[in-house]
Amino acid sequence: MEKRKNTRWNGWGYESVYIDIPCKAKELLTDTVGPGKIQKDYPLKEYLNKVPPSRLASHPLIITAPRERFFHAHGQSLPDWIGFRGGTLDRFPDGVAFPENIEQIQELIHYANNNQVVIIPYGGGTSVVGHLKVPDDKRPVLSICLKRFNRMIAFDPYTRIATFEAGIKGPEIERHLNPKGFTLGHFPQSFEFSSLGGWVVTRSSGQQALKYGSINELFVGGQVLTPKGKIDILPLPASAAGPDIKHLVMGSEARMGILTHVTVKVSPIPHKDDVYGVFFPSWENALEAVRVIMGEDIPISMLRLSNPRETQINLSLAGRNRLSWILNKYLKIRGFPDSGNCMALIGFAGSSRMVLQAFKELSIHIRKFKGVRVGKSMGKAWKKNRFRAPYLRNTLWDLGYAIDTLETAVNWDKVTSTMKNIEKVLHQGLTPLGEKIYAFSHLSHVYPTGSNIYTTFLFRLADTPEKTLLRWKILKKTASRAIINARGTISHQHGIGVDHLPYISAEKGKLGMELIRTLCSHVDPEKLMNPGKLIG
Ligand SMILES: Cc1cc2nc3c(=O)[nH]c(=O)nc-3n(C[C@H](O)[C@H](O)[C@H](O)COP(=O)(O)OP(=O)(O)OC[C@H]3O[C@@H](n4cnc5c(N)ncnc54)[C@H](O)[C@@H]3O)c2cc1C
Repeated sequence: MEKRKNTRWNGWGYESVYIDIPCKAKELLTDTVGPGKIQKDYPLKEYLNKVPPSRLASHPLIITAPRERFFHAHGQSLPDWIGFRGGTLDRFPDGVAFPENIEQIQELIHYANNNQVVIIPYGGGTSVVGHLKVPDDKRPVLSICLKRFNRMIAFDPYTRIATFEAGIKGPEIERHLNPKGFTLGHFPQSFEFSSLGGWVVTRSSGQQALKYGSINELFVGGQVLTPKGKIDILPLPASAAGPDIKHLVMGSEARMGILTHVTVKVSPIPHKDDVYGVFFPSWENALEAVRVIMGEDIPISMLRLSNPRETQINLSLAGRNRLSWILNKYLKIRGFPDSGNCMALIGFAGSSRMVLQAFKELSIHIRKFKGVRVGKSMGKAWKKNRFRAPYLRNTLWDLGYAIDTLETAVNWDKVTSTMKNIEKVLHQGLTPLGEKIYAFSHLSHVYPTGSNIYTTFLFRLADTPEKTLLRWKILKKTASRAIINARGTISHQHGIGVDHLPYISAEKGKLGMELIRTLCSHVDPEKLMNPGKLIG
């Protein structure tokens, strides 16, 4: 039986990591949404009793024990959380397989084809949009977990490409590459647990995508096993030979097959990799500075701009009262107002000379928009905690609050209005139920033509999981509509899964959706691959 080692069975991350929330942040929460409504967790034992008998014929590669079936029945979306903490998960895969080589994956696809078995590939289980939801299907469902299919197959420093088995996770990739002086440079916040294959098929974006590229740029080739056969993608530096098959695989959310091998572009580890804190006196100044900087071709590695409300929560979460006090005093001396300030984190990575030059150029723009640099300490703290923020989901839930995120991308002319409208509809969303919510946003992936908007929202748990789910559904719907009405994308980086399914056609159009459906059904005519996701 697979052991979960020391990861949480009903939350995020390692059991040994717990992040407490400073008193000031707790006060802010109570003042804005009210005291948390602490709910009792549903016990694992009861869950395991709920898993029904498997419908799968026995196979030496397939485990049908309730424990594994429960662990592979969900991802990390808020509905998933409500399910595993509240006891409302009611669909489980009929079995789980842990293939260790390509022959075993082929054998499992063959078995599924011959026995009409639905397949859900499982990478790291970090999907936040319901990619792993078990469909209500007459056919048995098999979860193929790729965690043991995780080796490095090839590494070539001369061409700067490396090939991995798709189940490999972020830290393992860096453990292979770093001693050789290289990095993949893909650092989503879920880095500790998400897999290379998962990143590609959900079009993931990492924190330093400005330097290394998102997975769209890093993925250069590989192999997909579909129910109809194999697709090999050559890792060419470029090609004008018709549409690029890579782009069909990226974002396919397992609807085309199992991505088995992934060839990626790798980069030398930079000599310098620094992140600086910058404050702007208003959102308007900050946004204009960022827009201009993005049009200037300055080689920055990351840029994250928090709006005033997120700046306030970040400072209260930092919990370092004395430092915050000094910072406020300093900003006041520099003529900043008491409220409305925005914090930006701006990173540089490369040679010392290049970093110095980029920093000089950037400083000109920061000054032009009345920004103030506050040194590297905030950047250092961010780097140290960059994968720890998601652990707050555990803490908040224990305190009686649910937290979720929404993300989109729009052109520069619509960034402010879309961000404000998303927050506005969220803030009003639960008024008829007499509940308040707290929403704040940042931009973390910026482009010359526009930016993503990443909004976090927080509300109180209700007295039953069903009512908490209803609160989430109201908020998700109203915010998703605000995104679609602004002609933004329904997802900049998390994908479609089931949660964004009602909104994808607004972006792709009728014919576009038909095209995607036809491509998927060509390689998977029986709809064995992850049905219900991406295209329904
Ligand atoms: C706390 C947290 C922070 C996050 N931060 C980010 C972020 O910064 N950037 C970002 O882009 N995303 C982020 N995400 C979302 C999530 O991590 C990504 O969508 C990630 O790419 C999913 O990878 P995974 O390996 O966990 O895939 P899973 O969740 O296991 O699966 C996701 C989908 O991919 C399919 N799949 C997985 N592996 C394969 C394969 N080899 N072949 C075919 N299909 C496959 C699954 O069937 C499923 O449809 C975050 C999620 C959480 C919970």
